[in-house]
Amino acid sequence: MAISRRDLLKGVASGGLLLASGISPVEAAMSNELPPQAVGILYDATLCIGCKACMVNCKQSNCQPGGALYREGMKSPPYESKGPKGNEGIWDAPQELSGKTLNIIKVYKNGTGENKDTAVNGYAFFKQQCLHCVTPACASVCPAGAFKKDPENGVVSYIEGKCIGCRYCQLACPFGVPRYEWDAAWPAVRKCQLCNHRYKEGKFSACAETCPTGATIFGKVRELREEARRRLALKPGTEYAFPIQTLASREKNRRPVAKYADGVYGLNEAGGTQNMMLSGISFELLGFSKDIRKSALPDLTWAYIAKIPWVFAGVFLGGTTIYKITHRGDKGDSHD
Ligand code: SF4
Ligand code: SF4
Ligand code: SF4
Repeated sequence: MAISRRDLLKGVASGGLLLASGISPVEAAMSNELPPQAVGILYDATLCIGCKACMVNCKQSNCQPGGALYREGMKSPPYESKGPKGNEGIWDAPQELSGKTLNIIKVYKNGTGENKDTAVNGYAFFKQQCLHCVTPACASVCPAGAFKKDPENGVVSYIEGKCIGCRYCQLACPFGVPRYEWDAAWPAVRKCQLCNHRYKEGKFSACAETCPTGATIFGKVRELREEARRRLALKPGTEYAFPIQTLASREKNRRPVAKYADGVYGLNEAGGTQNMMLSGISFELLGFSKDIRKSALPDLTWAYIAKIPWVFAGVFLGGTTIYKITHRGDKGDSHD
């Protein structure tokens, strides 16, 4: 049964139980296998210099306001050809993923913060965005089918027109990625779509395109996994030609290999993800939970949520009400 968000809101307002309206979880069987042409990103924190060029290009390529060239009131890209630039622009320095920030570079710092990629008295950068799970929990729990995993390239996309605003996806995602546009008149969920709108033009992820050091590269997941394992196997200090933008790129960043901590984040977490990370300090110190199960989560999450259907209405009404109360008179940016 097709149900629009407007229908849903009417149902809620009249006190009807949401699940009685015939909504059912997505039933399409999801594979635990990596799709044949799966694409993704390898982020190597030891190469990241924290320039945030990836964040700016992400915003420019995905119609999100904010970033160095954003000026209040501007609505659509390309920012560089519309409106004022330079000092007239208003800088936006997001601290978290939000409805307007799909990709964020954060900093870890300890003690004197002198040494890069060092846990004690050091610092490190790390990147957060949707990891494009092989078996995405967000798609599994969405009762409206608003999340779709491409069977060929494995990109997990969100389809705004289908979303009923229940925000189950936020509860289900083990990495805390999907954000809600609280300040929009008709809010939607936002998350990285791996720039899939750019592929038909022969382009790839905007963050990888603009990264000057090769810290973020785009490619086929199987090849990225091999590359990550290759780096881990190298002796620290060995000179290595790190590719820039994509694995096949002829442009390289030649430098000594750093000492990596842990393994490849994303090989097994939540059943595996198409975006992966390498780091010089442990992922736990960077705030990535060690408690995330190694197996796929979708069946587990739906089994849990389905037992408490009131969560469905409660999350929608409770969250919205609390937000309205806590943001009365607040016209600024909001981040969940
Ligand atoms: S990281 Fe979260 S939002 Fe992204 S595909 Fe996985 S479950 Fe979905
Ligand atoms: S893949 Fe695209 S949407 Fe995702 S973080 Fe990179 S630039 Fe942003
Ligand atoms: S563009 Fe590359 S080096 Fe700069 S912050 Fe992003 S990932 Fe790091």
